[in-house]
Amino acid sequence: MLLVIGLDGASYDLCERWMAEGYLPNLAHIKRAGLWAPLRSTIPSTSPVAWSTFMTGKNPGEHGVFGFFVPERREPHLPPTRFRPVSSHDCHGKRFWEQMNEAGLSTGIVGVPVTYPVSPVRGHIIAGLLAPGLHSSGVVSPSGLAAEIKEHVGAYRMVPRGIYTPGAEGRFLRELHTALELRGRLASYLLDQHRCDVHMFVFYETDAVQHKMWQFMDPEHPRYTEQGAQRWGCAIRAVYMQADAIIGELYERLGPDDTLVVLSDHGAGPLRGTLHLNKWLREQGYLVLKPGLGQRVKRVAAEHKAVQLCTRLSRLIGATRWIKLAPAVRRMLASGFLSAADIDWSATRAYSLGFEGAIYVTGRRREETIGEIAVRLAGLRDPATGEIVVEAAQQGRELYEGPFAAWAPDIVLRPRGGLYSASQKAFATELVGLGIDSGAHQPKGIFGLVGAQLPAAARTDRPALEDVAPLLLSMAGLTQ
Ligand SMILES: [Zn+2]
Repeated sequence: MLLVIGLDGASYDLCERWMAEGYLPNLAHIKRAGLWAPLRSTIPSTSPVAWSTFMTGKNPGEHGVFGFFVPERREPHLPPTRFRPVSSHDCHGKRFWEQMNEAGLSTGIVGVPVTYPVSPVRGHIIAGLLAPGLHSSGVVSPSGLAAEIKEHVGAYRMVPRGIYTPGAEGRFLRELHTALELRGRLASYLLDQHRCDVHMFVFYETDAVQHKMWQFMDPEHPRYTEQGAQRWGCAIRAVYMQADAIIGELYERLGPDDTLVVLSDHGAGPLRGTLHLNKWLREQGYLVLKPGLGQRVKRVAAEHKAVQLCTRLSRLIGATRWIKLAPAVRRMLASGFLSAADIDWSATRAYSLGFEGAIYVTGRRREETIGEIAVRLAGLRDPATGEIVVEAAQQGRELYEGPFAAWAPDIVLRPRGGLYSASQKAFATELVGLGIDSGAHQPKGIFGLVGAQLPAAARTDRPALEDVAPLLLSMAGLTQ
C-alpha cells in the first residue's frame, strides 16, 4: 500500500527547525530512515494551482488552473461575463489516481483541493478545499460514505469552521485542532474499514494556522508583541506537532511492503502587507468601475467593522450566488471582491483577481497594455514605507507553456521575498495594507518518503511538485 499525506503549506525550514528540536519525531524518522528534501512549488505557489500540478503532474499551462478564481470568457482577450471559484472541471489532464484506477488499483483520495465536484473512482474520494459540506452532492463518492463518516468519525469538516477574528485566537485554534483531529480519525477509519491500494489525505490546518498566527512567533513582524508571543507563539508549532502525531498513528498501520509519502504544496513565511491591485489599476486608469459602486462601498465601510464589511460586501457583490461554497470559504474569498457586473468593460483594460497577484488584460492594444503595466509595476514601492513590494512583474506567456497557457493571467507579480500578497480590493484606503493575515506562501515545501519503495525514489533529488505524480505512478508499477 502507498499512503500519501499532504500537509498544506508545510514549510521546509520550519520542519527542519522543529525536527531538530525534537517536536516532530515522526517526520524526523522519515528524514532519518528515508528520503527528505525541499519540494519546489508552482508559480504562483497557491493551493489550487499547486495541488492541480500535484494531481496531474502537469504545469499550469497544461492543466489550466491559475488561481482560486476563474474569469469566465469565450476568448482569452475578451471581457469576462463573471468571476467564479475554480472547480475540478477547470483542471485538465488525468489525475494520477485515474491512471491507477485504469490499471486496476483502488484509490482512496481525501481532502485534495480542486477535486470538487468529484468524479467516481475505484475506491472512494472526498473533496477538499473549495467544496461545500460533506453531505452536499458532488463532495463524496460513493455518496453513501458521507453518512457512514458522520456515524463513525463525527462532524468532519472540509475546512475549519468560522473565521479568525483578532482577539479570539483561542477559539480559532481550538477549531483548527478539532478539524485536524477529525481528519486523523477519518484517515484511521478509512485505512481500517475501506483499505485501498493507494491512500491520500490532505491536512489543511497547517496552512490556515500560518496565515493567521505567524505574527506571534516572528519578532520582526510589525504586530509582534512579547505578550502575544508568550500566549500564542507556539500555535503554529502545535498544529505541526498534531499533524506529526497523526502521521505517526497512520504509519503504524503500514506493513513492510508499504510506503509513506509526506509532502506539501508550498511552504510559508511572514507577510508584511497586501497590495490592493484593483485599487492600483483603478487609480492608473486601467480599471473603470460603474458609477455609484464606490459610494456604496464607502457607506458600508463607514458603518461596519472589518469582518462585518467582508460579509456585507460579499452580499453586495453577489457572492451569495456561490451557494455551493462553504460559508467560511465564501466569506474569505469574497472579502472586497468585485463582480464582473460592477466593471465598465467598455473602458476597462485590465483587472485583477487578487491572491495570486494575477492581472488579466483585455481590449484592443492588449500587447502594449501588458508591457506598460509590467513596466509600471516592477519595482513598485509601498507609498507609506518606501519599501519595494513587487520584485518582478512576469508575463504569463513567459511563465507558462501548454494548451491552456493562452488562458493564463497576462501578468503574475512576484512579491519581494514573498513578503507581500495581493488582493482584489478596489476601494482600500492604502495601496498596501496590513490585513488580518500575518503569514504568506513561499515556494519551498517538503517531500518525505519512507518504506518499501525507497529505492525507487532515491534518485529524486531536488524534486518539484510536478515530479510527484510520475513518481507515485512508477512506485505503483505504472509509467505515464
Ligand atoms: Zn496550499
